Amino acid sequence: MQVDISTDAQLLHYIITEDPAEMEALFQAARATRERYYGRKVYFRGLIEFTNYCKNDCYYCGIRRGNRNVARYRLTPEEILDCCRRGAALGYQTFVLQGGEDPWFTDARMVPILSGIRREFPDHAITLSMGERSRESYAALFDAGANRYLLRHETADAAHYSRLHPPEMSLPARMRCLRDLKEIGYQVGAGFMVGSPFQTPAHLLEDLRFLRRLQPHMVGIGPFLPQGDTPFGREAAGPLALTLRMIALCRLLLPKALLPATTALGTLSPLGRERALQAGANVVMPNLSPLGVRAQYALYDNKICTGDEAAECRACMERRILSQGFVPDLSRGDYHGISE
Ligand code: SAH
Repeated sequence: MQVDISTDAQLLHYIITEDPAEMEALFQAARATRERYYGRKVYFRGLIEFTNYCKNDCYYCGIRRGNRNVARYRLTPEEILDCCRRGAALGYQTFVLQGGEDPWFTDARMVPILSGIRREFPDHAITLSMGERSRESYAALFDAGANRYLLRHETADAAHYSRLHPPEMSLPARMRCLRDLKEIGYQVGAGFMVGSPFQTPAHLLEDLRFLRRLQPHMVGIGPFLPQGDTPFGREAAGPLALTLRMIALCRLLLPKALLPATTALGTLSPLGRERALQAGANVVMPNLSPLGVRAQYALYDNKICTGDEAAECRACMERRILSQGFVPDLSRGDYHGISE
């Protein structure tokens, strides 16, 4: 079965379809596209959740500032470097420093942390995911050694965005950040949650159209999952099949993108990440955070892998990748480093 997504109507059709044959054709096409650019390789990113302090109050997120039930933590520069060392020993060549929007991590504090990692690991990739900052700040962090930046746009519809975030946050501000990051020279990751409250198929179509315009290097797509202490704590989780279709459509629209099989998908369903690989994903992000803080980085409830040692996470991911006929690849996995 041919998969034609050249018009918005066709895109919308594949966003919505629950027809098993159409879905399988979509996943098959996504696999073929991924295979053309990346073969069967799946790349590893060691994830370091370095702070759960956040000045924002996003209605969906468990580490929003209004949540009094989270014990807050912040890794020290030495602890962050230790996580990188542990990751490097496991063979990871990308470190992802992710956290809430924590004002403590000023440029004056981040720059030495990044230079320290850079000094010890000159050839590793450093990815940041720490929210919205000024263009000057993004440039300073880039100059200090960061190569990539993950900042999901969350939803490309401004009205929908304002139902997921408090008034002080806005879609144009988010987009300004993404544009700045790209211009500075980062490999940039956008992305969105599937099945977030008030989301419609038209919003998801807008997400795809936005991604096509932005041409990001990475796209994080995972289901919305409720977190009990947030305003959306009693909302339903995003649907698995819809999340997989969005990953596959993203692969078809952005053939060379690096697409993670997200932890949220693994939390939603035991084989969620495996299914994502079969729908065109080609990245996994095993956790490198110290065991003692894992549970406190609770963006949503029932998050998996909070009790596993980093080495167990790597072995577990490798097993999952191999079980699906793919090949674990520990190289940096840069966007541009692939054959045409
Ligand atoms: N503060 C940073 C990164 C941390 S949150 C930033 O703003 O980018 C990383 C991602 O987790 C968010 O972009 C969001 O898409 C996702 N997330 C947060 N809460 C979630 C929830 N309840 N369910 C699913 N994903 C969630």
